[in-house]
Amino acid sequence: MATATETTIAQKLEALLKLQTIDSALDNIKKVRGDLPEEVRDLEDEIMGLETRLAKFQQEIASFEEQISNYKNSKKDSDKLIAKYKEQQMNVRNNREFEAISKEIELQGLEMEIADKRIKEIDFKILNKNDEIASVESTLFERKKDLEQKQKELEVIINESEEDEQKAIKDREKALKSVDPRLLKSYDKLRENARNGLAVVMVKRGACGGCFSSVPPQRQTDIKDKKKIIVCEHCGRVFAGVEDIIPPPEKEKKSRSKAATAAAAPAAE
Ligand SMILES: [Zn+2]
Repeated sequence: MATATETTIAQKLEALLKLQTIDSALDNIKKVRGDLPEEVRDLEDEIMGLETRLAKFQQEIASFEEQISNYKNSKKDSDKLIAKYKEQQMNVRNNREFEAISKEIELQGLEMEIADKRIKEIDFKILNKNDEIASVESTLFERKKDLEQKQKELEVIINESEEDEQKAIKDREKALKSVDPRLLKSYDKLRENARNGLAVVMVKRGACGGCFSSVPPQRQTDIKDKKKIIVCEHCGRVFAGVEDIIPPPEKEKKSRSKAATAAAAPAAE
């Protein structure tokens, strides 16, 4: 009976750890893609914004040009009026009429001056707007180049990892079947809250593999026993076991002598 429970807990932990390994691999795939998908989206947004601005500028230029043509038309009208007034002046009956018409001529002359002044102002605005357009166009050109580059990079990365990702997704489905449903719930919650995506960890060098808080020796023994599920007191992550401390290699002498022999060999021949 006790053995059966032991096996079950150990198996539960093993299944959970397997799921964690797969999920961590999937996390890594996403990490490699990293900010690229977002960068591509940002560039697309920026390009759209620039194109909108460009269209608006071009509309403004069209409106400026319309204004200029209106002023030019009104100048032509004034010109005609002045010609007409001058003709009328030839046939006036008295001084008063002559003066009145002179006033009108003067007024039209003023209108023409104002129109010229406005045309100059608008020409200047067009010049400035064209500068702005050129600057936006050059930014747009750069961004489009960036986007093309980033899209290519992303495509390569996705192509590279797609197979791994698909395999991991399949493995995950399989692994899920062996995971205790209640444990899965807390696993999902833990992963949601953990910044590194780790819900199941090993005790490494006497510390929690998730938050690095130290785990007392007695607790480590309990974790090793796997008679019950033990979680980290600090971060709540599930302990899957205690990682064996690998003793430092003592073969150094041997390998060195081997290397020496290997190095000596060609010389001897
Ligand atoms: Zn912890």
